[in-house]
Amino acid sequence: MDQLKGVGPKFCQTLSKLGIERVVDLLLFKPIRYEDRTDLKEIIDLQFNEPALIHGKIVRARVVFGKKRSLEVTVRDHSGELTIKLFNFSKYQQDSFSPNSYLSAFGRAIMVGKRLMFIHPIYALSKTKPLRPEKRLTPIYRLTKGMNQSRIAKLVEMTLKENVSNLDSELLKKIQRIHSPQTIDEAEEARSGIAFQELCAFYISIAKQKALSANSESVRITRHSEMEDRMMAELPFILTDDQTRCVNEIFRDLEGPRPMNRLLQGDVGSGKTLVSALIALSCAKSCLQVAVMAPTEILAEQHFVNFTSWFEPLGIKVASLSSQTANKKAMEIKKALRERRIDVLIGTHALIQESVEFGGLGLVIIDEQHKFGVHQRASLLSKGLCPHQLVMTATPIPRTLLMTWYQGIDVSTIKNVPSGRKRIKTHTVSLENRTRLIEEIKTAVVDENQVYWVCPLIESNDDLDAMATQELKEELKKKLTQCNIAELNGKMSSQEKKQVMLDFQLGRTDILICTTIIEVGVDVPNASNIVIENSERFGLAQLHQLRGRVGRGTKPSRCFLTFKPGLNDIAKRRLNAMRESQDGFELAEQDLVLRGPGELTGTRQSGELNFRVADLNDDFNLVPKAIEKARETLSRQHEHGDEINFLLQVWLPKLSSTFT
Ligand code: ADP
Ligand code: MG
Repeated sequence: MDQLKGVGPKFCQTLSKLGIERVVDLLLFKPIRYEDRTDLKEIIDLQFNEPALIHGKIVRARVVFGKKRSLEVTVRDHSGELTIKLFNFSKYQQDSFSPNSYLSAFGRAIMVGKRLMFIHPIYALSKTKPLRPEKRLTPIYRLTKGMNQSRIAKLVEMTLKENVSNLDSELLKKIQRIHSPQTIDEAEEARSGIAFQELCAFYISIAKQKALSANSESVRITRHSEMEDRMMAELPFILTDDQTRCVNEIFRDLEGPRPMNRLLQGDVGSGKTLVSALIALSCAKSCLQVAVMAPTEILAEQHFVNFTSWFEPLGIKVASLSSQTANKKAMEIKKALRERRIDVLIGTHALIQESVEFGGLGLVIIDEQHKFGVHQRASLLSKGLCPHQLVMTATPIPRTLLMTWYQGIDVSTIKNVPSGRKRIKTHTVSLENRTRLIEEIKTAVVDENQVYWVCPLIESNDDLDAMATQELKEELKKKLTQCNIAELNGKMSSQEKKQVMLDFQLGRTDILICTTIIEVGVDVPNASNIVIENSERFGLAQLHQLRGRVGRGTKPSRCFLTFKPGLNDIAKRRLNAMRESQDGFELAEQDLVLRGPGELTGTRQSGELNFRVADLNDDFNLVPKAIEKARETLSRQHEHGDEINFLLQVWLPKLSSTFT
């Protein structure tokens, strides 16, 4: 990347957070959407809530002191007036809006009282003439801290202009179109062409991997039943029949000579962790190391605590690693890992850093695997010599997908959750009935129930009419004075998060106000009530995962889904589905039917693999053709050798190195 003009080491680091390490990664960094700033609208023609570009002359600019201080700039074109409102602004900005200069602004119009407004629009000023609208659609990219839209757009533009990649012209043309299309259709056509190539590369790599593992040998893992018995003897329950069957199925693979590639699926709360622990136990006792990767720090920490309590009495050394682990400690862990003094390493994405090296990695376990991309899984696998692989998910994968997307993966399913669990009663609550909801929770806390209270946001945001944890905390501290309330969100340090979770686990906290950070894996059996604010903003699969945080103990559990009155039909049907069903498979199917827009956190059930350009939902029809093309290309490998290597290098650089 640093071969590009103006890209220094710091910028490189920021780019790599977005998965951009090479020039091709940048070119294949697909915009998440486009904005149409090509068409200038007259103010009188603005449609509510629809993004539009206007320009006009500044009439006045002034600071107003309302609930929050803000800057209001009034602009006029020959058809009408519009006010631009900024809550965050500098003195410099304030002075730059001088009357009679021109301003172009792109935003969504809303009505405040009788005035038409853009809140925090994108804008540009000019002293004399109005700015010209864009010629092409404006790409909007996924960002990270330290990056903004115009910076990344400029970099892409420059890279394309200087033509520094070695991609063929056909592909480059398509790439150009996805970054700067004239119409949405043009962008989509180009995208789908690129997606097809990505899928071909993917299927070629799967076929190669399969061929490789058919010829490679993994270390066989012997089952240590007496150790399993010792571990289970300390637990207050016995395995369910489904858990026992899954453990047996997995051992059939592990005792054979080929590397295992198995998916363990089971609904939320079905007890997958314990199954994976029993497998890890025998692996460690066979003197092979185990890596357990989870998508969030909270979940990794929870696994660490559990695995430690189960394994340390049996003489197995467990350690944990995340990006927050202090440097000195991380160095010690890495050293011990190389010297095989650690048997089981648990952690987040931090496990795939280059500096993490195992002395003898025999098994990789990936929890909530739908949260990881192909590349991430591949990098972890590459840290051992043909390690066995167990991936787990509560997100049910329909059979048709299993057949096409997971070629060559074996599946074990836990069908039933442990007995004794009661149905989670699910209520939908209109915000009009909020007072009653709060009373209800008060009573629940008096009866010694613990509560998760989930909000879509951390800080309130003027653009999004959704509940924020901060706002809720203020409200509940006033209304529920006798309750212990804590907050948990992704912005807190790991130490803080750990402490808050521990307090909640130990029952010191009654109500945990949190974001969707608790969506996957978190297990506090005593928590029996969950409130999900603005539930209409979440997808069904996500709601099901969130709801799965309760109903884990023996207490009757409840889930409250709040919504803003005036739901559209799809949203209504989704909430009804939640009320009526508790079966993840059934809900996943409904989810496909009732895909709704506007899921705030964007973790839409995009199926399973995180492709760069392809998308499971849009490109499903490309799959058979891509498989066919991959097969054909491979059947003439001697002719297509260079082409294949090039494809793999472009799309799956980390994997491709394992084939050569
Ligand atoms: P998930 O499949 O969602 O990962 P977990 O592994 O977190 O589920 O298990 C959910 C809860 O069920 C945990 O509290 C766990 O201790 C408990 N559990 C696991 N297996 C059993 C069992 N056989 N009987 C009773 N409870 C169990
Ligand atoms: Mg789990």
